[in-house]
Amino acid sequence: MSFEFLLLGLEHTFSYWERTVFIDNADVIVIGSGIVGLSAALHLKRQQPQLKVTMLERGFLPSGASTKNAGFACFGTLSEQLSYMKRSSEGDVLRLVDYKWRGLQRMRENLGDANIDFHQYGGYELFMDTEAGKAEEALDHLTYFNNLLKQAIGSADIYAVADAKIAEFGFKGINGMIFNPYEGQIHTGKMMRALLDKVYDQDVLVLNSCTVIEIENDGGQVCLKTSHGDFRARKVILATNAFAAQLYPDLDVIPGRGQVLVTKPIPGLKLKGTYHFNEGYYYFRNIDSRVLFGGGRNIDFKQEETWDFGHTDNVKNSLTNYLNEMILPGQHYEVDYWWSGIMGFGEDIRPIIKEVQPNIFCAVRCNGMGVAMGSLVGEEVADLALK
Ligand SMILES: Cc1cc2nc3c(=O)[nH]c(=O)nc-3n(C[C@H](O)[C@H](O)[C@H](O)COP(=O)(O)OP(=O)(O)OC[C@H]3O[C@@H](n4cnc5c(N)ncnc54)[C@H](O)[C@@H]3O)c2cc1C
Repeated sequence: MSFEFLLLGLEHTFSYWERTVFIDNADVIVIGSGIVGLSAALHLKRQQPQLKVTMLERGFLPSGASTKNAGFACFGTLSEQLSYMKRSSEGDVLRLVDYKWRGLQRMRENLGDANIDFHQYGGYELFMDTEAGKAEEALDHLTYFNNLLKQAIGSADIYAVADAKIAEFGFKGINGMIFNPYEGQIHTGKMMRALLDKVYDQDVLVLNSCTVIEIENDGGQVCLKTSHGDFRARKVILATNAFAAQLYPDLDVIPGRGQVLVTKPIPGLKLKGTYHFNEGYYYFRNIDSRVLFGGGRNIDFKQEETWDFGHTDNVKNSLTNYLNEMILPGQHYEVDYWWSGIMGFGEDIRPIIKEVQPNIFCAVRCNGMGVAMGSLVGEEVADLALK
């Protein structure tokens, strides 16, 4: 007897009371309780308070990217804008920045800065000694992007040269730095807890450790086969991000693992803000006198294209080497935490928000930018489901 069969067999144990109140009475079921799923549930209830909304989350806690990320509240470095411009158009770059900026404002309005430890310390893009050409190209476009993005941010004082601060932070091997005062940081755990509390306040039923295995549109209703039996609802929102293709293989969402470390507190830590280097593939920040540092997916894209959490020696070594030689050279530190999270990527860096089957909607693929855009992505899919 397979494990799955054993789990599905549990459905027969539901009582009449359980079935009528917990299992079969949702108007909308949201699958996945990350930023996008929670924001969708919140918006559904704010728009139509009488709706019965249930969330099914396979993890004991949300188990994808939303509780695992770096907590950068950012809309992109100069190099990121330039790289996206090369693949798309001026209009696309502006629209994406505008979307992320509005998404960040919406998260702050929804949850309150104090509840998520939002701090606008600014963000820095670092160019290594070996990247002089890239730095020059970015600087050549600095005024152009400041003028373009003024339409989204409301000011043209966005990117500025900050080379003088390299020595102040104590970095080694860096020959250029660009500062963006509009970038901020949050405490990811507090953000997710605040979002969950909002959703509970709206009387949404959140059921954890419940994996959706199959979705069927059964005429008037949608039937979900789960690890705890069958659920039914009028409409379903799929907010499973990197794992979307497990249920809908045609969705163009490829998983990408991000590995992260946090050091023990470092007395006299000089870093303050968010920092990116190597085209954004590496990122670090301060948190509670510690350094959070993550990235390195680009060392081996294929290896990191996985649904499995975990660590690899090559990425761990790369992160600790950069810490030793570039970020904290000559300083004593110890790593306190290692973890990983799974993001959803695609060729097109915009999220997928659409009806995948009648009454089944998806909002997935935040391309590593879900802190910034997740609140709006959730709202958009909720509006689509309510139409
Ligand atoms: C290491 C790392 C660092 C990052 N740093 C940043 C950052 O600094 N700034 C930023 O903007 N973004 C960052 N991101 C990206 C951001 O975290 C994501 O874009 C965002 O969290 C996506 O939210 P989501 O709700 O779409 O997906 P997720 O948070 O992944 O939520 C999907 C949920 O669906 C659940 N699920 C999956 N399959 C099923 C199923 N079959 N049945 C039931 N439940 C299911 C999962 O358990 C999960 O909880 C980072 C991501 C990682 C991994």
